[in-house]
Amino acid sequence: MQTIGVIGGGQLGRMMALDAKRMGYDVIVLDPADRSPCGQVADEQIVAGYDDLDAMDELGRRTDVVTYEFENIAIAAVERLERNGYRVMPGSHVLAVTQDRLNEKQFARDCGIPTAEFAAVSSIEDIEAAATSVGFPAVLKTVRGGYDGKGQWRVTDLPSARAAFAQANGAALIWEAFVPFVKELSVVATRADDDSVIAFSPGENVHDAGILIMTIAPARVSDVVAARACEIAKTIGRRLNVVGTYCIEFFLTADGALLVNEIAPRPHNSGHYTIDATPCSQYEQHVRAICGLPLSQPRLRCNAIMLNILGTGTGNHLDGTAELLRDPSIVLHVYGKHHAVNRRKMGHFTMLVDGPVGDEDIARAHAARATLRWVE
Ligand code: AMP
Repeated sequence: MQTIGVIGGGQLGRMMALDAKRMGYDVIVLDPADRSPCGQVADEQIVAGYDDLDAMDELGRRTDVVTYEFENIAIAAVERLERNGYRVMPGSHVLAVTQDRLNEKQFARDCGIPTAEFAAVSSIEDIEAAATSVGFPAVLKTVRGGYDGKGQWRVTDLPSARAAFAQANGAALIWEAFVPFVKELSVVATRADDDSVIAFSPGENVHDAGILIMTIAPARVSDVVAARACEIAKTIGRRLNVVGTYCIEFFLTADGALLVNEIAPRPHNSGHYTIDATPCSQYEQHVRAICGLPLSQPRLRCNAIMLNILGTGTGNHLDGTAELLRDPSIVLHVYGKHHAVNRRKMGHFTMLVDGPVGDEDIARAHAARATLRWVE
């Protein structure tokens, strides 16, 4: 095993490649945009669309294992790689579950794991039916392709639900009961081919309009809740037969219930903290799993607060880093994206915290974030 192929050249691919390079592997990435964040640190980038089957084949031919950093690749393209005899990890069977929010929720239910109540919506009649069977308030989401809060509508009554249905323009939808959660948690885990599976400490996530803003690690929850979240994550990884790093997102309710919201079959934004706060990050664990190396037992060197740095559409140069880095507990990661589009994930920083994360640490992290701005 010498060369890893990565489909998708974003920040997750970049961080995967950085760990793979440190471990001595060659990396070839496929992405349509030249000098992608991953392409900048990989040995080579194949500049081609994800629907370019010849380019996909070239990636398979020139590498020992193919993986991906985002899950919305055409399943047919991944199946073709597999049919042509190339190793793809995680396999296409995983994408068939995780690309479709209905399949994903049904899969969790079939594993005996609770989710929000839901119903499939593909017609205006289904809207009326779901309003009765599941009820309000609800979140309508496109079944496929949504991310970072895109393709989602909060609805509180029939007129707003009908308006959301119209805006979805015929896309298949899922109607989910709105969960009045007290916290959002995620567990990043890795499963290897020999069925060993490890889970990192749950992270506590704060979103703004559907986009992750902050992760606090470990999540400030009881040991019982943390252990249950890790057990659920391990069960899902085994039942899905994933090889690689994946993430389970949860809602924690006031009565202590954990509802699975999403399964991501790849390293996850909420696991960035593992780069700086553990000896073996979610990316290294992924490389270990897909290359047949033993997994490392997760260990936290310290606690952490991870804050995303989003674009604002006001310039492409990040200013204020000198001030930010006066704080020795901060580690900065910038992804090398050329355009700081409004609300695009451009980088993050991790603030390392000794002892439990308190409100004053969170305030300090936000104050540090405020020193950064985008300029021309
Ligand atoms: P998702 O794309 O499903 O991860 O949703 C993005 C974010 O929207 C979640 O992290 C929550 O903050 C919020 N959200 C999504 N679904 C629900 C729900 N059923 N109830 C409450 N909040 C939700």
